[in-house]
This record gives sequence, structure tokens and C-alpha cells, in this order.
Amino acid sequence: MTAQSNSGVPDEDALFTDVLIIGAGLSGIGAAYRIKERNPGLSYAILERRSRIGGTWDLFRYPGIRSDSDIFTLSYPFEPWKRPEAIADGEHIREYLTDTARRHQIDRHITFDTLVRSADWDSLTDTWNVQAEQGGATVTYSCRFLFFGTGYYNYDEGYRPEFPGETEFKGRIVHPQFWPEDFDYRDKKVVVIGSGATAITLVPAMAESAALVTMLQRSPTYIGSMSTRTKTVDAIRKVFPRKVSHTIMRWRNSAIIVLSYAFSRKLPETMKKLLRLVAVRNLPDGYDVDTHFKPTYQPWDQRMCAVPDGDIFKAISAGRAAVVTDRIKTFDSSGIQLESGERLDADIVVTATGLQLQSLGGTTVSVDGAEVKTTDRFVYKGHLLEDVPNLAWCVGYTNASWTMRSDMTAQAVAKLLAYMGEKGYTHSYPHLGDRSMSVKPSWDIKAGYVQRNPDALPKSGTHRPWNVRQNYVLDAIDHRFDRIEEAMVFGRVDDTVTIEV
Ligand SMILES: Cc1cc2nc3c(=O)[nH]c(=O)nc-3n(C[C@H](O)[C@H](O)[C@H](O)COP(=O)(O)OP(=O)(O)OC[C@H]3O[C@@H](n4cnc5c(N)ncnc54)[C@H](O)[C@@H]3O)c2cc1C
Repeated sequence: MTAQSNSGVPDEDALFTDVLIIGAGLSGIGAAYRIKERNPGLSYAILERRSRIGGTWDLFRYPGIRSDSDIFTLSYPFEPWKRPEAIADGEHIREYLTDTARRHQIDRHITFDTLVRSADWDSLTDTWNVQAEQGGATVTYSCRFLFFGTGYYNYDEGYRPEFPGETEFKGRIVHPQFWPEDFDYRDKKVVVIGSGATAITLVPAMAESAALVTMLQRSPTYIGSMSTRTKTVDAIRKVFPRKVSHTIMRWRNSAIIVLSYAFSRKLPETMKKLLRLVAVRNLPDGYDVDTHFKPTYQPWDQRMCAVPDGDIFKAISAGRAAVVTDRIKTFDSSGIQLESGERLDADIVVTATGLQLQSLGGTTVSVDGAEVKTTDRFVYKGHLLEDVPNLAWCVGYTNASWTMRSDMTAQAVAKLLAYMGEKGYTHSYPHLGDRSMSVKPSWDIKAGYVQRNPDALPKSGTHRPWNVRQNYVLDAIDHRFDRIEEAMVFGRVDDTVTIEV
């Protein structure tokens, strides 16, 4: 198929599909499935900058990489998770995504090694013209509808502060986002800087063969422990067929996630006591739990970390890992000096210092040549952008499994496309008009990567359908009773007037 250029003249060289999905991670594969399921007649393609399927689960290769939310809610509702464990490691998630893409013939639609740089909407032809880099050349794609499954962070750079004196350090410094292949840390002294999910995953995994792994944190994080296998899950899976048991497990675990979040927000002091108890029970007698595992913020002000079967506590109890709560004064040739006057010996330092938040995979988006600053636009129903035609972005929850929202987004876009097809519309966009709306952050969480770059994401309003919520129950109700025309403008390419509903 061919597309039309800005001038309205068909551009014979542009590769045209009805829908163009950017990203072959969890969101992109899920979107392809949902869009095709509801709109079998539409053509689609996926452009992926990497050489493999998987996104996050392909990029991150550090020891122990795994989900920290349960896999039944992280996997798709339409594709049962077959392995027994409830917390899956990165390799198995990558395999699951690759198998899902293959089973539903989604893999045939993916073009790898293709980095999307820009997308311009042409309202003369109602098409997106997309410029991508492929093997050193620029290739033009075009489509009617553009779906961003590009995740939420910069793939090229992690967050990596510079530390005083680090050039003096004779050992190796590694960032988890770019883990070296076959990196040998056996019998080495390792310091992991950070206390987020990545640090908490890395410490027990590296402790299995390193001489000692020390987690150096400025301040503690809440840690809950989750069983990798439970009798209830095994029993449900034994009694019911695979698809039914997967659905039961998804509903059960979604309810647990929602209820435990609500409990933490309503009764933070009780939740704090429970979490402290988990640490006390799992750590040796006399361990200074309050210094190393008692955060100053409330549970879920930042994303809570779940560890499988208390693994980090076990590594500390076995003397293979340690936690130090302090601040870095300076690196020296063989370690790190701390502000307290203490010093940590290190052969290897892992900077688990985080991600850099980024929207739309760094793509420059414009409408008729005018750049769209995503931070100036409100988000509609969590996935469309104010006054930007035929474009969706897909992000998950910060307080629940990503897929719980990304699958709703994929289904909502599939429904919108079906509606447009039925009515013969070639464009649609959400429109707020002159209504004033207060602004709140899209991700209302005090995570470092959000606070460092609060303007990376589009704006959230304070009233539906313009507010981004981290509330699965309310979103699921809205999704079930969705009014597709609400605050939307629909039109056809050959119409002189658009239809505002
Ligand atoms: C270490 C780590 C652990 C996590 N653990 C969990 C967890 O336990 N539970 C949970 O719910 N969430 C977790 N997350 C969040 C995680 O990112 C989501 O679970 C999920 O993988 C996001 O899927 P996605 O497809 O939206 O984005 P990604 O997985 O980031 O995939 C985006 C894809 O888009 C491609 N892409 C980006 N920009 C472009 C471009 N311009 N052109 C072409 N291709 C592009 C990327 O190469 C990538 O393949 C974790 C994140 C990290 C970093």
C-alpha cells in the first residue's frame, strides 16, 4: 500500500498500514493482538528499534532480573502463563512475549532495528508520516493511526549521577541498564548503590557468588515478601483448565493488589508495622531494622518492592550481603568513603541509580508541521492526547502490574478503530476546548525518576475523562461503561466540517 504526502499527492515510497505500532514490548505485542482481534480487516505493522521482542525484558540483563509484581497480572488475559512460579524471571517473561507473538502471528508484522525519530500528522490526507532510522538510512512509513508502545524511559541512557573521585577508582563501575555480557563478579567485593527494585533484586542474586555484596543506600525502601509458589495457586491450576485458572488467578491477584494498595493508603501506620514485622522476622536478632528498612515516607508514596521468598533478608542473614545507610563522600582507588567516616572496600560498583523518564520513545511528534509538546497536552482516558488526531500512548500503572492498564488501553484503541471504521471516520481526537482544568502530575508517585524529570510526561487533569488515575477499579468501571464519543471530535478526510460529539 502507499500513502499520501503533505501535499495530498500519494507518496509511492512510503510504506502504509492502517495502524503503526511503535515498540515490540509488552504493550506493543498486546496492542497488536487486541487491534487485530476486533478489527481483522485492518492492516498493521510494528517498528522496533531493538533486534528482538521483549522491550524491558530484553534490555535488562543484570543478575536476578525478574518481575516484582505477580506474573498472572503482568501476563496477558488472553495468553495464560504456564510456568508454576508467581514471580517470573526476565528470561521467562521474554520467552512468553516471543511465544505469544509467534502464536498469534504478530512476529510477522515486526520490523526490527528500526528507530522511530519523528511523526507528522497531515490533515490534508489524515495520515501520519513517520520517519525512522534503519541501517543508517531514513525510511518513511505512513499510517492512519499511530500507537506508542514505547514504554516510559530512555533506552539510550540510564540515570547515572557523577560521584566525587570516581575517576580514581581502579575497579569496575557498571550500570544495570547496560550489563556487560558474561560479567565475572565471582569472589569479588561488590557495592550496589541504590535501594530501588533493581538494587533489591541484584543484591541477593550477586551474593550467590560474590565475596560480599553491600547495598549502599541514602534512605530505605519498603520491602514486602511474596511466595514464588503457593498451595492455592497450585490447587487452582490443578482443578481448572489452563485458560480458566489463568483468569481466576488474574482476578484473584488483581483484587489482592487493589486491596493491599487501598489498605496501605487508608491505614499507613498499620501497613508500616506489618512491613517492619516482615523485616524483623526475616533478619537476625538485634539487626538494626529501623535504620536500614524503615523509610521516612508512607507506603506507596514510592513504588513498593516485593521480593520472592524474602531472598534479600536471607542473603543478609547468611552474611553474604549487607546494607549500609549512609552518603558517599568520595570514591578512592579501591572503594568508597562515606560521610559518616566509614569506608567500603569494592572491586566492583553497581550504580543502581535508576532510569530517565521519557515519553513517546523520544519521538518528535508534530501536527501539520507544528511540534506537539507532550507536556502541554492533557491525557484523555489515560491514553489519547488532547487535540492530537489518531494517536495513542500506552503506559501501565505505577501501583499495580503494567498490563492491568496496558491491556485496557489496547482494547480501548481497538474499540475506537472499530467505531471509526463503522462510521467511515478517518480521524478522531479528544478535545477539551476552552474548559479550564486544574493540572496534576500524570504519575503521582515520589519515585526518583519522576521527580528528576516531572515534565517528561503529558499533563493529567483532575476530572474524568482527563485525569490519569492509578486506580484499577475505577478505570475498569469506566472502561466497561465507556462512552466512546465523550469529548471526542470525529471527522472524515474529505469532510469540510468535523463532527464534534
Ligand atoms: C528493571 C525493570 C523491572 C520492572 N518490573 C516490573 C514489574 O515487575 N511489574 C510491572 O508491572 N512493571 C515492571 N516494570 C515496568 C516495565 O517496563 C513494564 O512491565 C513493561 O515491560 C512495559 O512494557 P512496554 O512494552 O510498555 O515498554 P518496554 O518494555 O519499555 O518496551 C518498549 C519497546 O519500545 C521500543 N522503542 C522505544 N522507543 C522506540 C522508538 N523511538 N522507535 C522504535 N522502537 C522504540 C523499545 O526498544 C522496546 O522494545 C519494570 C521496569 C524495569 C525497567
